[in-house]
Amino acid sequence: MMKDLQQFPRIPLGVYPTPFYKLEAVSRKEGVNLWIKRDDLCGVALGGNKVRKLEYLLADAKARGCDVVFTAGGAQSNHAMLTAACAARLGMRAVLVLKKRGVSGHLGNLVLDDIFGAQVHFVDTDSYDDVYAETARMASELEAQGHKCYEIPVGGSTPLGSLGYAQCVREMAEQSAAAGVRLDHIVSATGSGGTTAGLLLGSALYLNGTPVLGVGVDNDPFEEIVPYLARDAAALIGAEPNLGPFSMRYHFGSGYAVPNPEDTPAILDLARSEGILLDPVYTGKAYAGMLRLLHEGFFGGAENIVFVHTGGAAALFAMDLG
Ligand SMILES: *Cc1c(COP(=O)(O)O)cnc(C)c1O
Repeated sequence: MMKDLQQFPRIPLGVYPTPFYKLEAVSRKEGVNLWIKRDDLCGVALGGNKVRKLEYLLADAKARGCDVVFTAGGAQSNHAMLTAACAARLGMRAVLVLKKRGVSGHLGNLVLDDIFGAQVHFVDTDSYDDVYAETARMASELEAQGHKCYEIPVGGSTPLGSLGYAQCVREMAEQSAAAGVRLDHIVSATGSGGTTAGLLLGSALYLNGTPVLGVGVDNDPFEEIVPYLARDAAALIGAEPNLGPFSMRYHFGSGYAVPNPEDTPAILDLARSEGILLDPVYTGKAYAGMLRLLHEGFFGGAENIVFVHTGGAAALFAMDLG
């Protein structure tokens, strides 16, 4: 029996629905209707996609009686920062275990982590194995003192967290219907996979399998990870949907979290034509990658494409565009 996603335990944290509208200037220039879903405007900190995931993840943490939330990431992790913001609101302590590589000073998200009162712990490593080992060590210390810890893996990309993006598609289904458009393609950045997985599930549930494209900003095998996460997320709500078409294309330049100078013109163009900020780690790469694919004919005869803006602006205050 399929449970309704609406009945699934969730703590409201963001201001939803986020805006959905057509990018008029870009659409004229590109000769296609390009729509945007503004999850960068979700009302927590500087916005971003992790809030929808955290609505489910922190509901689970609360239900289990946890008072401390651990998560992991790079030094400039948007996910860690938003976990700090959301945990603080719920009266929970956030411990952020971050990879030391790439720390270039107390900038960007690290400033916000402090404002939200998180405990930031750096591990001098490049490997998440070390980060998770340190997390386990710190969590067992806190448990010995009587705390109850909840561990959220990098990016919050578990099946539970992915439900947040099925919820996002549910909103877009209503918003696109109200605007009288049929969406032909959904595009987002793929960093740890949960967002794209949720979009794929949501598309099957609410948009008759509108094709989903993930633009990879890291080089993990998302072709496998994303459908696997989508099916496990579906199982949580007792659904067995036929997932619609899904493709991955990669556009990370010289590597994850390294700004790609080739993308700068697209970032500046969107800022100057629509007043929208993209970031150099995720959305700038995904947006520039999407435009490149559009020019190559990837979207065929698609008339309406929606780009899901997943946030990330704090990185603009931590690194140069390149
Ligand atoms: C985390 C993140 C993404 C990627 O989402 P995943 O669910 O990890 O694939 C995209 N954009 C921004 C700004 C992010 O912080």
